[in-house]
Amino acid sequence: MESLLNRTSRGMSIMTTVLVLFFNAADTYGWHDRTHLAIAQAAGFERWYSAAAPDVVKSRDMFRPVEEKNHYYNNNADRKVTAQMVMEQVERFNRPEDDEGHLYGAIIGSVRDYKKLSASGKYADYPLVFCAHYAGDLSMPLHNTVYDDFNKERHGTNDGIIECNALNNIGYIQRSIYDIRIESEEDLAREIARVAETARRLGRKIRKENRNMTQAETYTQVIHSASLFRAILRYVGKNPC
Ligand SMILES: [Zn+2]
Repeated sequence: MESLLNRTSRGMSIMTTVLVLFFNAADTYGWHDRTHLAIAQAAGFERWYSAAAPDVVKSRDMFRPVEEKNHYYNNNADRKVTAQMVMEQVERFNRPEDDEGHLYGAIIGSVRDYKKLSASGKYADYPLVFCAHYAGDLSMPLHNTVYDDFNKERHGTNDGIIECNALNNIGYIQRSIYDIRIESEEDLAREIARVAETARRLGRKIRKENRNMTQAETYTQVIHSASLFRAILRYVGKNPC
């Protein structure tokens, strides 16, 4: 009887370890897949169905060091995000040796990649797939704030707040998109900083109140992402569909 109990408890602890490993591996992914798809589709991106692909890339061990730092910026000092801070991150795009991450620079970097490929006459949509994804991560508070215990414990839950209904609410997100005018890289940097600030401030609020985001707060955030990405599509000469 005792050995059966021991076996059972050993089995439980292996199970717990497996679950903990699973959730740890999943916990820094940003919005879950369907939330990313909803943002990209509402923005009018033709390849919206690939908007979760950058997280798939990141899941491969060999690509993770290069890709994962493009998905967040740990604002450890809780500094106000400025256009200058955004531009300072551009040269770190795709660089693995960067502990704090460089999500803001990755958005500019992928727009530059698109322009370069497009100017050379090559197929250029894949950098925009990355851009759609990064523009999505930009509004997620826990991708814009310090990676502390609060962030680690609540990351997975907050990534998935609207996951089960996001694809049913694409029309709502689309109707809520507001106009952003981007005519230069400076405009783009300024708008990235503005959306990052909405996420940083919400991150501060939920930390102070020790809670997860509400559905309403989450929709407000993804609408910022969809509005920004729609403006980026226009800026690079893609007509949102
Ligand atoms: Zn991501």
